[in-house]
Amino acid sequence: NWYGIEPQHIMAVDGGHGVGGCDWDGRWNHVTKFLERPGPFTHPDFEPSAEALSGFRIIHVVDMDTIDLSNLNRQFLFRPKDVGRPKAEVAANFINSRIPGCKVASRKCFSKMHQRKFHIIVCGLDSIIARRWMNGMLISLLSYEDGVLDPSSIIPLIDGGTEGFKGNARVILPGMTACIDCTLELYPPQINFPMCTIASMPRLPEHCIEYARILQWPKEKPFGGNLDGDNPEHIEWVFERARKRAAEFNITGVTYRLTQGVVKRIIPAVASTNAVIAAACATEVFKIATSAYIPLNNYLVFNDVDGLYTYTFEAERKENCSACSQVPQDLQFPSSAKLQEVLQFLTESASLQMKSPAITTTLEGKNKTLYLQSVKSIEERTRPNLCKTLKELGLSDGQELAVADVTTPQTVLFKLNFTT
Ligand SMILES: [Zn+2]
Repeated sequence: NWYGIEPQHIMAVDGGHGVGGCDWDGRWNHVTKFLERPGPFTHPDFEPSAEALSGFRIIHVVDMDTIDLSNLNRQFLFRPKDVGRPKAEVAANFINSRIPGCKVASRKCFSKMHQRKFHIIVCGLDSIIARRWMNGMLISLLSYEDGVLDPSSIIPLIDGGTEGFKGNARVILPGMTACIDCTLELYPPQINFPMCTIASMPRLPEHCIEYARILQWPKEKPFGGNLDGDNPEHIEWVFERARKRAAEFNITGVTYRLTQGVVKRIIPAVASTNAVIAAACATEVFKIATSAYIPLNNYLVFNDVDGLYTYTFEAERKENCSACSQVPQDLQFPSSAKLQEVLQFLTESASLQMKSPAITTTLEGKNKTLYLQSVKSIEERTRPNLCKTLKELGLSDGQELAVADVTTPQTVLFKLNFTT
């Protein structure tokens, strides 16, 4: 989900005589303690007053998903009767009926136009690609004059994420502080067990499940087609095979639940971790919206796997970040390198991690697609280029390559530098 906070409807904290006739005596007592008196952590430029602006009246919540039964255990907004309904709509209705005066609007999708009017974006996304996309979108909205960033074009991005008992929250001021792509190396690649371990020396119950999933299923095709993680019969089949495999190697711990978790790549969501991270994100929104406090600078780590541990650090901007640096990206290859190698670099480099890059360039004044994966007919037509060398493709030293990918809404420009 992401939440856009619209600034046109600022609500003054006035200790009980607010707009809309829905306030009551003492409603804002807690908030006024922060806004009407100074404290050791208040922003140096902040002047406490009863006039201080506290908030926002309209929150847009965006989520394309509908509610699944398995979502109910880790959140507080959905009830069994809501299963099958759009998440954004149900969440919005719940908050609207619970908190007088708060207006939450729900959307199932967003476009560039929608985002321009928001002052703060809060992300609670479940994938790095989606984070990078939103990050890239906010970067694309920045305006520069003679290379100087116009601060009014910055829309702060507050990003929260959890994985089991671990979580993080961060504040990104696009163009000013480290963005998602600046710190891409922090994200671990998806865990895949080495094939040799799965095939010949399993040590963990997961190895046995992967054996059944990766090696036995494609060979035996028990139900004809592909493995469907939502089909209980399929999971049961993998579970049984994994259990046999585990017994051979004296490995314990293969359960139906674990099988389902491994097949569907589920990392259990823990409600308490989600609550802590959501609170951290909400606190940052409060600080930015009121300007009363200095925002988190800029990355908070939370871990309660064993005891409880939390700290913050300042993630640094990457000088040549492909998303936010405005520095042309260099690609260093010998002219004898094949296009395949360039493609591999774009997907495997820790700082780029693209998914299915489409590479185009300009040759003799014409746009030319060198390789594009997402459209079958174009893929087939451009596939032979992968085996050609950069020289054979007619590319020259200093050539610009435009690369489009799902990880960014904008095309990334690369400059080809031939090495010898
Ligand atoms: Zn960056």
